[in-house]
Amino acid sequence: MSVLRADAAAIARAAAALGAGDCVAFPTETVYGLGAVAFDARAVAKIFEIKERPTFDPLIVHVLDTAMLDRVARAVPPLAAQLAERFWPGALTLVLAKRAEIPGIVTAGLESVAVRMPAHPVARALLAAVAAPIAAPSANPFGRLSPTSAEHVRAQLGARVEIVLDGGAAPLGIESTIVAFDPAPTLLRHGAIAREAIEAEIGPLLDATAASGAAPQAPGQLPQHYAPRTPIRVVDALPPRAQRARAAYLGYTSGAEGYAAQRVLSPGGDEREAAAHLFEYLHELDALALERIDAARVPAHGLGAAIADRLARASAR
Ligand code: AMP
Ligand code: MG
Repeated sequence: MSVLRADAAAIARAAAALGAGDCVAFPTETVYGLGAVAFDARAVAKIFEIKERPTFDPLIVHVLDTAMLDRVARAVPPLAAQLAERFWPGALTLVLAKRAEIPGIVTAGLESVAVRMPAHPVARALLAAVAAPIAAPSANPFGRLSPTSAEHVRAQLGARVEIVLDGGAAPLGIESTIVAFDPAPTLLRHGAIAREAIEAEIGPLLDATAASGAAPQAPGQLPQHYAPRTPIRVVDALPPRAQRARAAYLGYTSGAEGYAAQRVLSPGGDEREAAAHLFEYLHELDALALERIDAARVPAHGLGAAIADRLARASAR
């Protein structure tokens, strides 16, 4: 595996690898992605192999601009267009009717496709260089902690990927928010854009996220996901001191005494800062191989909803 600083030469090399049917890992503003050209079913199949991701879990297709969007989606309903206008490029994924050219392996056989126009300059340069949409889930083994740095990708996927473009820490650090429109605007996944911001734009969303208690509508809305190797649980109150010595603590605004290690997501209670640190700190605490991670409950409003969702799934059994 080569971890390459994402300069023009490295981006050209990564684009050539994509064009030749290989997968490459690259930074986006949410998390690092493992990408392949979306029209290339064999290349996309390699993503599933590398990640050991079940093929019923569809991928997000990344586009550079609206011209590229038109090669992926058959139609963009007015409310979707409104959200794209407001939030793209950015951390919002829209589920739209797919074009026939998008192979079924990308969408797990669904007639819809999840699409996002990323803002990260390296992701955009890569899209421009390949001049094709890139299907990319997070660059981690299926179900594990999402990668927010090139080092996370190297540590988790190692020799399974040829090229990792290193663009530094992913600025948002948490996955995109996913919205579907058929038959009505519906939140499928909490993410880096708060539900409240979307509702301010187009009005109330139906809720099909796991947190809503609704049956999973989309494949991939699995109860257990984003999990460190170390067992993790969400705690409302601290356990007795004797139970802290061989465990780690992930606080929201404050730490706790008596733990072997701890991190605080945001001392000032800033949801954006907390989201940006979530996976980074979980990777660090996980690497200590302690008995357990106790995570403080994060209030589920604004971006806190996405953090709470990740912690709930990380701790699900
Ligand atoms: P990831 O690529 O790991 O961020 O996950 C992408 C997620 O997007 C999947 O797990 C699904 O929950 C969702 N998704 C992707 N495509 C579709 C689709 N066509 N319809 C509904 N949800 C989708
Ligand atoms: Mg993922």
